[in-house]
Amino acid sequence: MTKIVKVSIYSIDFTDLWKFGPKLYILKHKMKSAMEKPRKQVLLTTPYREKGEEYEYWGSNVSGLIRYTYDKRNSNGLRFLKKNIPEIDILEFPSKNEYKRALKRGYDVVGFSFFTYQIPRILEMVEEAKKENTPELWAGNYGALTYGMEEKFDKIFVGYSEEEVAEELGTKIDELEHPMIVDYIGTPMGIRGFPLAVVFTNRGCTQNCKFCQTPVFCSKPYKIPLSSIEKVVKNYKEVGVSEIVFMDENFGMYKKHAEKAIDILDKYDMNWYPMTRIDLLDKRLDDWYDRGFSGTLIGVESLDQDSLDNVGKNIDVEKTFNVLERLEEKNSFVIGYYIIGFEDDTIPKIKKNIRKLNDYSLDLVQICIITPLPRTPLWEEISEKYGIISDDWSKWNTKHLVWDHPKINQNEMRDVLEWGFKEAYPKTTFFKSPIKYYLRKVDRFGHFKTQAKMIKDFIISNSGVKTKINDC
Ligand code: SF4
Repeated sequence: MTKIVKVSIYSIDFTDLWKFGPKLYILKHKMKSAMEKPRKQVLLTTPYREKGEEYEYWGSNVSGLIRYTYDKRNSNGLRFLKKNIPEIDILEFPSKNEYKRALKRGYDVVGFSFFTYQIPRILEMVEEAKKENTPELWAGNYGALTYGMEEKFDKIFVGYSEEEVAEELGTKIDELEHPMIVDYIGTPMGIRGFPLAVVFTNRGCTQNCKFCQTPVFCSKPYKIPLSSIEKVVKNYKEVGVSEIVFMDENFGMYKKHAEKAIDILDKYDMNWYPMTRIDLLDKRLDDWYDRGFSGTLIGVESLDQDSLDNVGKNIDVEKTFNVLERLEEKNSFVIGYYIIGFEDDTIPKIKKNIRKLNDYSLDLVQICIITPLPRTPLWEEISEKYGIISDDWSKWNTKHLVWDHPKINQNEMRDVLEWGFKEAYPKTTFFKSPIKYYLRKVDRFGHFKTQAKMIKDFIISNSGVKTKINDC
């Protein structure tokens, strides 16, 4: 008697089909391939860079070699994508040859993550991809917001886009996972001091500063799940990393969430440095200090109240002075973001304010020339009122004047920027920063533990921390 077996193709476990004989085994393969839409092979890459082209915080803001380095070799965005969509391939800051070799693998899609100033290099890479007949080209990161990019790419991703990329590949992300991202603080001679790991607790920003692209890039701010934060912090701890930078656009924007993230860091004995706002730090500094706060990356932006008000940066300059003083008393490491070239700025006014900023102990001042980045309210305002004078996107790195300033020309702006780099980073800073770093740690751990930690940090950072993308 023939036994009739009824199976649903949706519930069957194909690995059991061999039991029904060779004919069914062949059927298994036919059905399986018919049901599975072949997945696109995707390569996502940053711009290539050759030796000496590395971007790093100190190198871009200090003239001379008596300085530190933040040796950044990871792409935060691409690491998140790879962690959450393991089937894609990523290339982080490859050399030109590495990129060309990767193209030979014949990807269905090559996607580019870039900033506006990197557009010329990216367009060169696009041409290479076309030569290899890559069928589809994608663009992402802040540079993809630039006008005209829609003509160069088949698809533009706005925002962090893990879910959108997963959808393209026919998959879904249940909960956003946080990848390990470890870089190093060192010196231009290549000697590293300690590893610095990145943590994000939220994305986007609820403020609306006129010059900032974040409100367009990530128009609906959201939190990174605490479970993902805890997992990655635990992984950092296991590989010996104990210094964390919160790279949120605005750490502390979700107050309770930020406090819970700090609890996690405190639990694992981490020292941390948030990228945040003066007003938030004003309220939370004393409490945070007792829980591992060791410094900050902070938007000072300007010491001129009218300029701040004009660009919608709701900061009281007096509060800035007060917070900078308190940070100094607590031996906190401080990177300050500072903007020059506001509408009402003149050369003497810029110089006066930078000198004033020098009264405070900042470890690095990142000086930028105000730039009306695409799709910001400032772009609208400046292009209409004064006009844009540079269509060379490589100059849109905040170190060039790209619009027709009413009181300062391009050469004068370049000279005052150079002057500012020297003025804001006197040679003594190089020696003061490690002393502050040591004193801050002593305050938390005592001399013996601090010295042991520094030796350990030195050893592990110079031998390299293992951070495989998908086993964390
Ligand atoms: S500059 Fe900072 S505070 Fe202002 S919108 Fe951008 S991320 Fe938010």
